[in-house]
Amino acid sequence: MPEGIGVSPGIAIGIAAIKNAPVQTESKVSVGEPEQELVRLESAIEKCRSNFLELNRNAKLTMGEEAAAVFDAHAMILKDPALIEGIKAEIMQGNSAEYAVKTVGEHFAQMFLQMDDEYFKERAEDVRDVISQLLGRLRGYDITENIAYESPTILVADELSPSEMARMDHESVVGIILERGGRTSHVAVMAKSMSIPVVVLEEACKMAEDGMTIAMNGEDGTVLFDPAAEPLETLRLGKERQERLRHAYQRMVGVGTSDRTGKHIRLLGNVGGLADVNEVLAQDGEGVGLFRTEFLYMNQDDLPGEEQQFAVYREVAQRMSGCPVIIRTFDIGGDKDASSLQLPKEDNPLLGYRGIRICLRQISLFKTQLRAILRAGAFGNIKLMFPMISCVEELEQALAILAEVKEELREEQEPFNEQMETGIMIEVPAAAVLSDHLASRVDFFSIGSNDLTQYVTAADRGNNRVENLYNPLNPAVLRLIQFTVESAHKAGIWVGVCGEIASSYKIMPLLLGMGVDELSVAAGTLLRTRYLISMLSHSELAETAQKALSLPSAATVEKLIEEAYGKDLKALI
Ligand code: PEP
Ligand code: MG
Repeated sequence: MPEGIGVSPGIAIGIAAIKNAPVQTESKVSVGEPEQELVRLESAIEKCRSNFLELNRNAKLTMGEEAAAVFDAHAMILKDPALIEGIKAEIMQGNSAEYAVKTVGEHFAQMFLQMDDEYFKERAEDVRDVISQLLGRLRGYDITENIAYESPTILVADELSPSEMARMDHESVVGIILERGGRTSHVAVMAKSMSIPVVVLEEACKMAEDGMTIAMNGEDGTVLFDPAAEPLETLRLGKERQERLRHAYQRMVGVGTSDRTGKHIRLLGNVGGLADVNEVLAQDGEGVGLFRTEFLYMNQDDLPGEEQQFAVYREVAQRMSGCPVIIRTFDIGGDKDASSLQLPKEDNPLLGYRGIRICLRQISLFKTQLRAILRAGAFGNIKLMFPMISCVEELEQALAILAEVKEELREEQEPFNEQMETGIMIEVPAAAVLSDHLASRVDFFSIGSNDLTQYVTAADRGNNRVENLYNPLNPAVLRLIQFTVESAHKAGIWVGVCGEIASSYKIMPLLLGMGVDELSVAAGTLLRTRYLISMLSHSELAETAQKALSLPSAATVEKLIEEAYGKDLKALI
């Protein structure tokens, strides 16, 4: 049975449609004068740019901020001087615009492919998408046309570009099999947000035939081509089970979040912008536990001004009608770049100029965001949070700047929330170790386990080669979480977790057992998490958590979880 890599979960059964890449050769020598070719190029670039911006606006509504950001990145590529000047130089040598775009674009993509970092390797995919769109425009195709399929279709392709993904008929395509692509590729992110299962399987186009039945599992990477009755039945039952579970999650709307014993747990959603807020509301979240504001800075050429930010924060607060909204000041740097900030290239960006470190140096930038957040606080239940705090001095500086901003707003008689609760993320090991000192200076903690795990284990969260070490079940991570919870409670403040582990069936129960007061999870996983919590009992979990903290390794913790509740919960996801 062919086994690929599951990159977007879910089971799908449908009819194969093979998408073949069109073979096109470009004539090398230009037909028109270079000046005419340059005009054709400029016009194609402009049309592509406005198309990407439109795709971005539509994707924000249908797929969420993260998926939509892909198209802004595409529009940016079309502004890259190295690419555009390279193409123009090729045209000036007498070549056709098509030939110039294709050769220089491919050279550009190859540069990304040769980089060591997986993230940059995958950016080659973006460059190729942009180039193929540009070529389409030059050849006069309507690249905005939607691609229609029969229902239910399993699309088999060598690769798919984000633009093709956006134009695909989302109702009819129930699954996708690709020959190339990774777990963190844009297509995977987009497919997940649309709940379309995806498997990456080498030579899939050779194994499939148009019109044949295909059954696939995006969780474990299984693909069955023209399956026999028995394995098909097994997957069909799996699919039915998945649908039953989806209904069970849906029944959790309106019932609140509490464990088996009736103990209430605060369960909120993580958002990157307004589109994700809709999902929090649809999945009945109790509020927004983490608003990653960096997306506002990443999706545009210019820095977002105070009024633009104020309008977004106020709208989120109003839509959440009185429920808490925790706005985190931007955490740009590390693996998130924003061209509007023009950050210097660094050898170790994850250990470099990032988040609050930038804010404390570029104070007017920080103040603009603080003003917008404080003012929006007059319209809803907004709380403020600082990321990447690593020592008491940083927190004190941030609080001093916050006090200055409040004073300025008072003088201007601008309405704002004087009493806004202010907290910090605990995501740097130093902050966890110093959490007893930090706790007396803030109103809450939110544990950022994604970064905390990466910094405690010294394993880059985006690097597949050290994936085995990047493990939040490492007792070193768990002990720091436990100490942070104790510090918070001794100081009389609450503590939440907003990293990915908050929705993990393996780790979330340990967090509750350690006494975490609030969980904030990806908006799309809210109801599932609520369902899992309803099966647990906090007193049993406290015992399991204590045992886990005494164990020597992630593997032994994993075994303990498996025996205590892992098997039961796995059956519910
Ligand atoms: C975290 O580090 O756990 C976190 C929630 O922040 P981000 O994923 O945005 O770094
Ligand atoms: Mg973080």
